[in-house]
Amino acid sequence: MAEPRGILQLECPRLGGKGDGSILCEAPEGPFRQNTPVPFSLRESGRVRGVFAEGAESVDRPSRGGYDALCGRNPGAPGLASGEGAFMANEQDRMERIVALAKRRGFIFPGSEIYGGLNGFWDYGPLGVELKRNIKDAWWHDCVTTRDDVVGLDAAIIMNPKAWEASGHVSGFNDPMVDDKETKNRFRADHLYGIWVVAPQHEKEKIGPPVGDSIYFGPGERDIAVGVMRQALEEGRFSPPTATIIASSEGEVLNQLVRQEKGKGIVNRGWFVNLEIALRRTGKTLDITFEDKKGNVAWAFVRHIPVKVLVTNSEMIPSPYTGKRGVLTEPRNFNLMFQTYYGAVFDEAHKAYLRPETAQGIFVNYKNVLDTSRLKVPFGIAQIGKAFRNEINPRNYTFRSREFEQMEIEFFCHPSEADKWYATWRQARFDWYVGLGLKSDRLRLRDHEKDELAHYAKACADIEYAFPFGTSELEGVANRTDFDLKQHQQFSGRDMTYYDDETKERFLPYVIEPSGGVDRALLAFLCEAYDEDEAPDENGKPQRRTVLRFHPRLAPIKVAVFPLVKKDGMPEKARAIYEECRRHLAAFYDEKGAIGRRYRRQDEAGTPFCVTVDGQTLEDGTVTIRDRDTMKQERIGAESVLHYVREHLHL
Ligand code: ATP
Repeated sequence: MAEPRGILQLECPRLGGKGDGSILCEAPEGPFRQNTPVPFSLRESGRVRGVFAEGAESVDRPSRGGYDALCGRNPGAPGLASGEGAFMANEQDRMERIVALAKRRGFIFPGSEIYGGLNGFWDYGPLGVELKRNIKDAWWHDCVTTRDDVVGLDAAIIMNPKAWEASGHVSGFNDPMVDDKETKNRFRADHLYGIWVVAPQHEKEKIGPPVGDSIYFGPGERDIAVGVMRQALEEGRFSPPTATIIASSEGEVLNQLVRQEKGKGIVNRGWFVNLEIALRRTGKTLDITFEDKKGNVAWAFVRHIPVKVLVTNSEMIPSPYTGKRGVLTEPRNFNLMFQTYYGAVFDEAHKAYLRPETAQGIFVNYKNVLDTSRLKVPFGIAQIGKAFRNEINPRNYTFRSREFEQMEIEFFCHPSEADKWYATWRQARFDWYVGLGLKSDRLRLRDHEKDELAHYAKACADIEYAFPFGTSELEGVANRTDFDLKQHQQFSGRDMTYYDDETKERFLPYVIEPSGGVDRALLAFLCEAYDEDEAPDENGKPQRRTVLRFHPRLAPIKVAVFPLVKKDGMPEKARAIYEECRRHLAAFYDEKGAIGRRYRRQDEAGTPFCVTVDGQTLEDGTVTIRDRDTMKQERIGAESVLHYVREHLHL
């Protein structure tokens, strides 16, 4: 479970019944050091106003947005921690707006939508496919084309099933799965979080069956009850949670709490209607304060439920779907590989799998590549391709899909150099995302704890991104030792050792594996690029603008060309500029609608430059070129548009 980088504690003035309060920020860096009180006041409209530092901009936003203000993305709150606690109500809204934009502008569609879609499958539309291609091209360029020591490969999706026995996928590529016997829903046992509520006595009826002595408190007993429950959880004593939520991070839990609040409340009883602003961490537990409509306050603890607790106490755990107890099965292993058959006979002997990762295609070709190229260890083989996993709960948009694309490198090196290469790739892959625009503090490198490592791995780090739905893995970089080659050597009977002519040494190389997902990278770039600001319309009136601030290498369209009006030779002139541009880079021509609207459409597509041919063009041969981010326009010669765009985008 990811630990937040910083802890935010907000004191809600309503809890104290005052109009003003202070925010305690425990931030690892920046101007707000541990426990710096930051004054804020809550207005009647439910907005938090905060002055974050002398001279810094103040924050003024809806009260739940107070979390957002604290997550460091607000210019007035530089250096504040962005951790799991940052993902709150307006993160949820933000995600919804991103999904809507992606659909509206043809980035991502639900798979086979006209038939009601298919859970876990997504289709990429005209803009999405360009964005995806640009990500893959950037990866290939930076990891393969421009390196002497990495070559490419394109292996078949369906491999001899023995390869999956050797890799351990047939026996071990399992997720523990739990069924809700009543609703027939299924979820991953390791993706279950518990919520322990400590509530006032008079709410007992609404919350449901008592689940522990300490859970309800009478007048004046709240702090004691909270303390008892916290201690029980910290000491690992089992106490059944009040409710459960399916999530893979605390951030995701918080997000769902906020969403549930709109309708059902965390225990499906419509009780918690107002998630308020108190959040802090004690050890492995996250504490949240809730309020109901009447201003009654309850305390809740969020904590991951270990799979072993589901094994021993499944009947005590409430269903994440209905809140009922006694309806969950014990966890069972579920193999994530999709099965199929090859040839005309559908029997066991002809069973095959859709690959769950591209890596094994590389391992089985390691000798082929070595024998047919002039490469010497250390060297890498790279592959981009589809992978399939029958995920139990596909969710969070494209983040956890059943069909997705991977970008993987297996880098073979001498065992004595493995630590060095691991460190090199770990940093190089992190820098790659930063270089393409994931600059904010939403990106982080997290080293796995010893007990998180796969049995064969010597080291592993996840490159994680703080998506609006929670912080999750974009890419993993691992030192896989010689495990894979050893396995394939054993199962295939082929010698996988490498002979070094110079040192006269024969050895089984170690493998460093940077393994990333194209779809997750795309989603991160999309979330990072999404922005809203204000731009004046034709009449100079400020209007809300949605803009995708893609890195130029990733922008699906680099330049759009418009005639101001569809007459006076402007379309012909604009078309000529467009034709010249599109021979060299992705360009777009549009002559329909008001010019302001055409700009907006390109802002939403993330197009860095828009060129307009107007009356003056016909007189002096100049056009306007508008910058997506600053919205500033300048006049340049029509003949220099291509040069200008290339120069400014460094293409
Ligand atoms: P998770 O723990 O999130 O299921 P994982 O650790 O199993 O991921 P890996 O097996 O390391 O993932 O796969 C490498 C990369 O492939 C991941 O970092 C991710 O970018 C991508 N990936 C894995 N599973 C999926 C999926 N279901 N949907 C989209 N991308 C995925």
